[in-house]
Amino acid sequence: MTVNDVARIVEQLAPLGYQENYDNSGLSVGSPSMEVSCILLCFDVTETVVDEAIALGANLIISHHPVIFSGLKSITGRSAVERIVLKAIQHNIALYAAHTNLDSVPGGINDKLCDILGLKKRQVLSPLKGQLVKVVTFVPHEQASTVREAMFAAGAGGIGRYDCCSFSSDGSGSFRASEGANPFVGEIGQLHVEPEARIEVVCPRIRINGVVAAMVEAHPYEEVAYDIIPLENDYPKVGLGMVGELEAPVDVSDFLEMVKEKLGCSVLRFSNPHKSHIKKVAVCGGSGASFASLAIAKGADALVTGDVKYHSFLDYQKTLLLVDAGHFETEQFAIGVFYDFIREKIANFAVYKTELVDNPVKYLYR
Ligand SMILES: [Zn+2]
Repeated sequence: MTVNDVARIVEQLAPLGYQENYDNSGLSVGSPSMEVSCILLCFDVTETVVDEAIALGANLIISHHPVIFSGLKSITGRSAVERIVLKAIQHNIALYAAHTNLDSVPGGINDKLCDILGLKKRQVLSPLKGQLVKVVTFVPHEQASTVREAMFAAGAGGIGRYDCCSFSSDGSGSFRASEGANPFVGEIGQLHVEPEARIEVVCPRIRINGVVAAMVEAHPYEEVAYDIIPLENDYPKVGLGMVGELEAPVDVSDFLEMVKEKLGCSVLRFSNPHKSHIKKVAVCGGSGASFASLAIAKGADALVTGDVKYHSFLDYQKTLLLVDAGHFETEQFAIGVFYDFIREKIANFAVYKTELVDNPVKYLYR
């Protein structure tokens, strides 16, 4: 199993194409072709986590936060990031991260946060745009269902809780085969008009290559005519944050107690409650205060996130219960998400969770 093989497995859960444009998820140190001996999973890569990997004989560290985020101009060991990268290179350890792409997917950080807080009827708070295309092709009627099914099997045609979605209309295609062609219908040098179905299916951008390959394979024509049309639609399955509902309205103080207990927070910071009960709750693991307006627009009574600034508490005190449960506290289960997914895919591989899980933020309380 190479670094690339393991990366492809993680990307089945968290495709790199779903990361935000400011992010740096993926492989940041190491060779994709390197054979992996053992994997160490962590939240943040620190120098002690690299030491732990060395002691374990692990040569691939998978983290939630990328080590290299804003670029390095030197690797001399002056900063913690430089020392981590230097040590990883010296010990032939690859560093891979799944960050905002893991936040954004079903089964990822925010989905898990909803599980922990018991939120039902979930939807993505800020769905990704530009992730859907429409694939259109033209097929003789007799082969239309074969082509349609091949596209569905390759991942096209999903809309919300429905699959196998398509639209077909009747029309005629015309073509003239030139010398050397091997037409399925019609004669060389003769204009041919064939009754065809125009098939349209929606397709996630990351599945285009597979869907087009399956379509071409199933299509009877030597030269397959097709269009790939970018869509402006939101991709409702994927994006940052989620919003869901508690079983029943909960008194604000009980809600805060519940969040504190379930996320294991030492303290909670929250805005002046604007209502007595909470039912609809938005979540965004990590730094998600910028989604407060969107949470209000989606009808949320509360937003649970981390890294909330003073002025955000001030701005939303009449409109939203803004809860700062901590960056670490709202994302700490990333290691478990990685572990469960990788274990399910490669049960017999050596995969370890770091024993050095530690919130870098400390609290002093009486
Ligand atoms: Zn984070």
